[in-house]
Amino acid sequence: MTETSRPVELPTRHVTCCIVGGGPAGLVLGYLLARSGVDIAVLEKHGDFLRDFRGDTIHPSTLKALDELGLADELLQLPHEKTRQVAGSVNGETVVMADFSRLNAKYKFIAFMPQWDLLNFLMRKAQAFPSFQMLMKTEATDLITGAKGIEGVRATSPDGEIEIRADLVVACDGRHSRLRDLAGFVPRTLGAPMDVLWFKIGRDEGDDDEPLGRMSAGRILVAINRGTVWQCGYVIAKGAFEELRKGSLDDFRAAIVDMAPGFAGRIHDIASWDDLKLLTVAVDRLALWHRPGLLCIGDAAHAMSPIGGIGINLAIQDAIATANLLTDNLRGRRITDSDLAQVQRRREWPARITQWVQVTIQNHIIAPVLGARSATRPPWILRHLQSIPLLRTLPARFVAIGVRPEHVATKQMPPVH
Ligand SMILES: Cc1cc2nc3c(=O)[nH]c(=O)nc-3n(C[C@H](O)[C@H](O)[C@H](O)COP(=O)(O)OP(=O)(O)OC[C@H]3O[C@@H](n4cnc5c(N)ncnc54)[C@H](O)[C@@H]3O)c2cc1C
Repeated sequence: MTETSRPVELPTRHVTCCIVGGGPAGLVLGYLLARSGVDIAVLEKHGDFLRDFRGDTIHPSTLKALDELGLADELLQLPHEKTRQVAGSVNGETVVMADFSRLNAKYKFIAFMPQWDLLNFLMRKAQAFPSFQMLMKTEATDLITGAKGIEGVRATSPDGEIEIRADLVVACDGRHSRLRDLAGFVPRTLGAPMDVLWFKIGRDEGDDDEPLGRMSAGRILVAINRGTVWQCGYVIAKGAFEELRKGSLDDFRAAIVDMAPGFAGRIHDIASWDDLKLLTVAVDRLALWHRPGLLCIGDAAHAMSPIGGIGINLAIQDAIATANLLTDNLRGRRITDSDLAQVQRRREWPARITQWVQVTIQNHIIAPVLGARSATRPPWILRHLQSIPLLRTLPARFVAIGVRPEHVATKQMPPVH
């Protein structure tokens, strides 16, 4: 960390809140605070949001929050696919895992939209507020400490090194958060038995619409309808990719076709191993999310398993709770560590319960399937979902609405001078 008394004077900006990371958590928080007149800067190390195979799901709880901001209808004008049910095939037996159409909610579907479209949309909307600054290609490299605790960040930018001084720094810099490391926070790892290989297969007009999940001994394949392509996730045992790569790509293609015969004609869309993107699954969380002047939210505070595709939504719910709890004190420039503790108190519980459910699914469904050498019956949890349809609303609710959905409680206000 950098002490305040450095001999070299760097160009310095002053804001009330410096948000590091322009992902879902950072941009929603930036939008909400700027809307309430808090002077903020969002730092994003990349020059754009065009990263493939990021989370692309927008869940009903997020749509509801965007609706509360008057943004949902406009967002849903952008190209997206709607998923109303998640079904799968276990050793040829079809099981419905979640049925969103039965939910008591305004939006009864998951919208699949490229994450860059969502982020560009949020940034564009936030730029309408005078107290919003977006600093692209600007990477936070160090924390600035002073008498009050964390007092800002040092960053590299297109104009060279800069300092951004702030009453509060919010680390929204994702699952490999540098700020969290610089603050000395070490996440507790909860473990995951699997990694996921993401790839795309062309989708023909007339192919099935619904997402396709297939489980058979030792293998799990998920294919999501993304219009012209199927976005596929092939679940492998943790750390198995290196070994897989040593084998033949044709064997890998054959394994996919064996699970999804409909892909046979398009399987050479996987032209090389480079067409597979490895997601190293991590489930972890911090014991403490804050220290004076610094708060971690989203993946920086709790990396989620991909099960249920709820990472984005949890990150957004964290951002809404942060804005609800901190806006007044940020406007009054009197933010304290106990204000930050309130955010952790509100959001840690949903993160813990969600991770507990994900780890239970990992251990009781995913790991047994990956470890199986011959065909087995669907795991008992899935069999119960089939015999008692009402039970399907539970996973649907868990995925779509989450444990503690947040509602926007802040208002649009003029900037504080
Ligand atoms: C391959 C993959 C697939 C996934 N699929 C899904 C899914 O289908 N549904 C779902 O809900 N979730 C999914 N997730 C998880 C989801 O993407 C995350 O949970 C969510 O994006 C977390 O949001 P965040 O804002 O906390 O962090 P991130 O989205 O990780 O955003 C962090 C941002 O900070 C920037 N950054 C990092 N360090 C710095 C720095 N030092 N200075 C400035 N900027 C910095 C990064 O460039 C990034 O833009 C997936 C994740 C991966 C990796």
